[in-house]
Amino acid sequence: MRSLVCGPTMPSVPFRMITTLRRLAIGLALVAAGCEATDGTSTTAFTGATVWDGTGSPPIADATILVREGRVVSVESNGAVPSGATEIGLDGRYVVPGLVNAHGHVSGAWADGDVVGELERVRGDLELFARYGVTTVNSLGDGEPVVAARDSASDTDPRARLRAAGPVITAEEPAAAREAALDNAEMGVDWLKLRVDDNLGTSAKMPWNAVQAVLTVGDETGIPVATHLFYLEDAKRLLEMGTAMVAHSVRDRPVDAAFTDRLRASGVCYVPTLTREVSTFVYADRPEFFDDPFFIRFANSEEVARLSQADFMRRMADSPTAAGYREGLAHAKENVKTLHDAGVMVAMGTDAGPAGRFPGYFEHMELWMMVDAGLSPADALRSATAVAAECARVDDVGTLEPGHWADFLVLGEDPLVDIRATRSLERVYIAGARVAPDGPGG
Ligand SMILES: [Zn+2]
Repeated sequence: MRSLVCGPTMPSVPFRMITTLRRLAIGLALVAAGCEATDGTSTTAFTGATVWDGTGSPPIADATILVREGRVVSVESNGAVPSGATEIGLDGRYVVPGLVNAHGHVSGAWADGDVVGELERVRGDLELFARYGVTTVNSLGDGEPVVAARDSASDTDPRARLRAAGPVITAEEPAAAREAALDNAEMGVDWLKLRVDDNLGTSAKMPWNAVQAVLTVGDETGIPVATHLFYLEDAKRLLEMGTAMVAHSVRDRPVDAAFTDRLRASGVCYVPTLTREVSTFVYADRPEFFDDPFFIRFANSEEVARLSQADFMRRMADSPTAAGYREGLAHAKENVKTLHDAGVMVAMGTDAGPAGRFPGYFEHMELWMMVDAGLSPADALRSATAVAAECARVDDVGTLEPGHWADFLVLGEDPLVDIRATRSLERVYIAGARVAPDGPGG
């Protein structure tokens, strides 16, 4: 029997015209390829779920997702299953695109203790992200092994896709800043990352002439520059100087109209990293999430034990910086709502990866916190899928459109009703293949 997937499945209108034609071309090419096949033997049909595809279209009930060679061919309500296709029933389930973290870290610190070698450890972190449904990570400030992991990855690996910034640039004078930026560029990074912060007044900020030196290398090489910042005035200045991503919330005060307007007009993305703030104070007491089965499922027990030590908890409780960041979080939550409502591109990011910031779980917590801050569940999910993919400049992920990688989550409950339903995660697919809950070998 001939394949029934020959109809020109038009992608719904993506939210940025610049990519529309490219996506359309890929989608049509794949549909054409499907028509040439005499049967559906290499096609997988996921049937019966309600699919929220991330494009901004309403959910598709009783959807059939057709996947060939790891990519989405079509998503249609009650779509036909081609003869010979492998059918995977998802009745009663909810499907959303894989989560994209626009600001994470992949240090290799979270891999299983027995894993040897920097590259393998980085891959271990990426597997942990993937088990939680974070299928793409933009690593904003990690070492050379991350670039090696990116370069040696295949698009169908059962671990998170990766973009890499190389080491964070914090040089104190322009020549050293330029050299560090050029070193990163030579390494083949996707981003340059610099840090303008005084750590709540406890250290010196990177001088502006050194910041300029990094941005100049960005201009010369075409590599976008993401910036760590804390203060509104610094955010304004960095925006004026040409940063391509505000990689943290403004946390010292409410944003004003001048910044909001400028940010929206620039198209530069804003990445709130609310859970980063949480990690700076939450372990003063035993956090509730330590008892969440969804956390416990993959939590690194050594790190939980370290954070649970009485000494550690007391130091955090007494820490003035912890108190400062707790205040910062209140501003951050107010600002993400203001900026989102004003039409700024807000991309989900967590800064997860360093100690105390649990990869995978923190991305879910970030979504829940964005909704606490006032975003709708659908807007928070857009921020963590389509918008984050665009902000991190990763093609072909973030929405379940024809031509995109079939990276998606299968949930038992509807996250559009209650965003905490992302915790009902049952399965993760990358390029149409199921990620084993215990990793590729499990
Ligand atoms: Zn970071």
